[in-house]
Amino acid sequence: MHEGDHGILTNPDSTNTNRMGRYRRFFFPTSLLFLIILSAIQGISGLLDHFDLAIIPMLLGGGFITYTTLVSTIEKKQITAGLLVVIALFASAIAGEHLAASIAAFIMISGEFLEDLTLAKTRNAVQELIELVPDEAWISQNNHWINVPISQIRVDDLILVKPGERVPIDGQIVKGDAAINESALNGESMPVDKTVEDMVFAGTINEMGAIEVKVTKIGDETAIGRIIDVVYQAQKNKGRTQRVADRFAQYFTPSILAVATIIFFVTLAVHQNFDQLGAFATGLSAVGFIPETNPEVLRKIAVINVTAVLLIACPCALVLATPTAVIASVGNAAKKGVLIKGGITVETAGQIDTICFDKTGTLTCGKPQVVAFESFGIEPEQKVLQLALTAEIQSEHPVARALINYAQNQDVQPEPINQFEQVFGIGVKATLDPDQEVWVGNRKILEQNWITPNPLANKFLKQQESEGNTALLVVLNGQILGGISVADTVKPDANQTIRKLYQTGIKNIIMLTGDNETSAQAIAKQVGINTVKAELLPEEKLEVIRQIQSENRIVAMVGDGINDAPALMLSDVGIAMGAAGTDVAIESADIVLMNDNLELMYNMLSLSRRTLSIIRQNILGFAVGMNVIGILLAGSGILSPIMAAVVHNVSSAFVVLNSARLLRFGEIEHRH
Ligand SMILES: [Mg+2]
Repeated sequence: MHEGDHGILTNPDSTNTNRMGRYRRFFFPTSLLFLIILSAIQGISGLLDHFDLAIIPMLLGGGFITYTTLVSTIEKKQITAGLLVVIALFASAIAGEHLAASIAAFIMISGEFLEDLTLAKTRNAVQELIELVPDEAWISQNNHWINVPISQIRVDDLILVKPGERVPIDGQIVKGDAAINESALNGESMPVDKTVEDMVFAGTINEMGAIEVKVTKIGDETAIGRIIDVVYQAQKNKGRTQRVADRFAQYFTPSILAVATIIFFVTLAVHQNFDQLGAFATGLSAVGFIPETNPEVLRKIAVINVTAVLLIACPCALVLATPTAVIASVGNAAKKGVLIKGGITVETAGQIDTICFDKTGTLTCGKPQVVAFESFGIEPEQKVLQLALTAEIQSEHPVARALINYAQNQDVQPEPINQFEQVFGIGVKATLDPDQEVWVGNRKILEQNWITPNPLANKFLKQQESEGNTALLVVLNGQILGGISVADTVKPDANQTIRKLYQTGIKNIIMLTGDNETSAQAIAKQVGINTVKAELLPEEKLEVIRQIQSENRIVAMVGDGINDAPALMLSDVGIAMGAAGTDVAIESADIVLMNDNLELMYNMLSLSRRTLSIIRQNILGFAVGMNVIGILLAGSGILSPIMAAVVHNVSSAFVVLNSARLLRFGEIEHRH
């Protein structure tokens, strides 16, 4: 697949789908309907008596269904509902019921067309991932850095990564310091400070500082290359789930064929042995039954009865049961801001019993915020905050942005500064007028010998770090004035959503995160999730999901980042948080929540469950219930084939109406 030898990541699946296909298929059912209407008019008006116009749509529709059914039966090696339709069409053609056969063919084709409409959108996840890796790199030549295509880079080459650029390979820093955003690999938006001997990875972003890197891995050998491979493999394997209707057809079709065969022979037997039936024969005579003695006429009667049975049993309601419900459901979800890709997703989502949540950006806002601010008593709080703001105002670091936000909300203004400096691994330094030096830095600042110790500072650091927060100290001319604590905060509706999910009977909710155990436990406690798996590599997240699937459970994964893509793809239902999510996560998912509202998770789940129950009602109530009664009437000769077709279409109409109820699902709850 990928050309690892040349260091280039290529998309093995870069075929385009034909958009015209959909319109062409729309044209076919429409023309069939037109011909059927013409045939019906002909039937009523009695025009062109010597030729039955209905033969044309019957041949067109029937031919199409016969072809597609045979192809899919051979491919899947499985009995589908289509097979029953084909047999019913042949029986109708033999019995001369052309219009009934045309209508059955039309409904069948329409059902398939509706299903096409809900087919999964093309996934571009692999392509999007590949685009994360730059296709050029800076390489040293005659003491100059020149830009060359990535295909010319080899292991052990020395490359330069400038600030603002993505790292093109996996390698080890040999010179320079940098703040690297590794969210592509672990979902954490907070940059990591890296220096000589640290590893950097392809697809991550150098936010600050230039580094020289010795190449250790290229192309699909890199960490991102392996993620791409997993996504590609999972994408190929997805969609094996069987539709409820197909599972049902496996029993339905053989049963109806058996019933039809029995009715054929019973009809013959009753007529031929009428004299020996005693009381039963007397009963039949009483309702006007006349036994047929001419064997040729008798065979025709038996064929007509069987045709009526097959037409009644023709699985139109079964074929419509799923797509109509799914279309209504997908439409309803779209109005609420949930994008569902693919009909089978709705059915699978209705069976979810385990949900895995990513932490950062999914359960949390993904943006650090100031969670604690303290003055240690030397200067008033307002003054300490002003100094901190002054020092951080020019920094691009997410922690600085959190502090600037916090200060601005308190109407604090920065002072003018003479000089600003980022101090690698510690924090920032600003020189004020006159001769005042302000530092905002992490624990490492205590190691500097010009710092006056302060027991309050130690207590503050210890307390905040135990909660998984990033703690910083504000220092003026060597004196520690106060502390700032920054942390990612949970989304406002996270706790309530998790509780509602537990209440709906989802027994297993698991938080999967690459972040450290302390931060993970702190967040899990706040949102109310019992099971936490922390410090996971992307591959280990997949292992958790595989394990759950091996226990025959249906698992959903909810995530927002590039690093979640393999898990979203592998899980039975991948759910991406839309607004905050990256394109790769959105492409890899089956369901996209269009905003950051976690509440949508719960709405989506109840809608899917409702959809599944409507599909079951459609199948058991209309596809089976009404048909059983119809089959009894048709088998005994009370319903003629054309009447059978009418009764049968009524059950299809009921299916459509029943499914339409899903369009309004959830509206009543909203009014309260
Ligand atoms: Mg995330």
